[in-house]
Amino acid sequence: MTDLSAIAAISTPLGTGGVGIIRISGKNSAEIADKIFVAASGRKLAQSKGYRAHFGRIFDGETPVDEVVCLVFRAPHSYTGEDVVEINCHGGIFLMKKILRLILQNGAQPAAPGEFTKRAFLNGKLDLSEAESVMTLISAQGEQGANAAFNQLEGKLSKKIESINSSLLGLAAHIAAWVDYPDDEIEELSENELRNTIVNADLEICKLLSTFDSGMAVTSGVEAAIVGKPNVGKSTLMNLLTGYDRSIVTEIEGTTRDVVEETVNLNGCILRISDTAGIRETGDLVEKIGVEKSRKKLERAAIVFAVFDQSKPLSDEDFELIKDCRGKNVMPIINKSDLDIQLDIGIISEKLGQPLYISAKSGDGYDELCDRVADLMRIKNFDTTSAMLVNERQRQCCEKAELALKDAQNALDLGLTPDVIGVCVDDAIAALLELTGQRASEAVVDEVFRQFCVGK
Ligand code: GDP
Repeated sequence: MTDLSAIAAISTPLGTGGVGIIRISGKNSAEIADKIFVAASGRKLAQSKGYRAHFGRIFDGETPVDEVVCLVFRAPHSYTGEDVVEINCHGGIFLMKKILRLILQNGAQPAAPGEFTKRAFLNGKLDLSEAESVMTLISAQGEQGANAAFNQLEGKLSKKIESINSSLLGLAAHIAAWVDYPDDEIEELSENELRNTIVNADLEICKLLSTFDSGMAVTSGVEAAIVGKPNVGKSTLMNLLTGYDRSIVTEIEGTTRDVVEETVNLNGCILRISDTAGIRETGDLVEKIGVEKSRKKLERAAIVFAVFDQSKPLSDEDFELIKDCRGKNVMPIINKSDLDIQLDIGIISEKLGQPLYISAKSGDGYDELCDRVADLMRIKNFDTTSAMLVNERQRQCCEKAELALKDAQNALDLGLTPDVIGVCVDDAIAALLELTGQRASEAVVDEVFRQFCVGK
């Protein structure tokens, strides 16, 4: 257990509410609280065994400030694994800030973003992926997202990684012993045994990677791009999806010169949508930069809304777009369904699949669009109780492990010696240990917690 000096922060949102909570964690938390808190019972918090509520008053010198309830938790049975005091005061911004200031004046340090959870991690209360799901759970915007994050917080992903790792560790240990002590009677693993363990671990990791987009869609959100030539109604569609006039809509081509971004929740599917500048050849320098950005968005997007105008025949720009969409997760959208058809719909169906008809202006087709998004992102029957990756860092660790296991299989195919295979297996293990934080560098750990809010 770490024995770090006390930190304090307001743990509830900085707004007006019934109750506000200020948390103190670390060495002498109760002694610090005792300097400003007087219990109605007259007892000191430092004498408390913990897990009791103590009613009393906070004082600024001789002046009473608020009536509060203090909760005491004793190490290691607390959120951080340290001694913790939580002061439940009335939820006023001035009041919470004042009580925090009194605590800081009496010996605690202000907590950095995520520092409480970081201490929990350092004290072995949770691993890095579980700590990350705390943040995912707090920012959940829907039932599926909250459920998925809660299951990862409960250790679904950690357990899965642990089980993959334990089979690889067994293998690595055997290979190392066999390589290091060639004279001893250590049985050589058969190629079949080696291959089976590696292939099974690889399959499990591939399974995790395959659910990444769906997991992200219900938790943190995925990138979505609205693309199409100028004037097909991209900005109008963006406004329909966001529910307000976010993008400028005009009849003049090239109005949206930059990428406009917004997060929307379509029936539980969270999309970070970019309304891109129309992709087209242009001499205008500013528009050119916008077009370039649009192409990048298109490349990165997990889902692409390719918009066409029903009232105009297909042009070269439309064909260019169809080409750009190749290999992407595309939803072809035929907009302006309220106008007469001039478009060759057969070509769009053939190249991009069954299109969706909407009128972005009137909102016709909106419900079907939400439904189709859920289908495309495969979140309809998505099992939120299974292990899943909920951020880019976790995905990268899995990809590193996957690559190393593929190298191991190639080495086996080439008939290379077990020590080469051992190096690949070690690399895979290292990547998985980085995911859970057991072997993550300080810089990685700091980066994870920097993304947290203060007070968590
Ligand atoms: P963008 O350049 O692709 O972003 O296109 P805009 O959203 O700016 O729309 C271009 C023009 O098409 C505007 O005059 C819109 O009002 C019009 N428009 C957009 N969607 C529809 C629609 O569903 N039906 C009709 N009739 N007009 C639309």
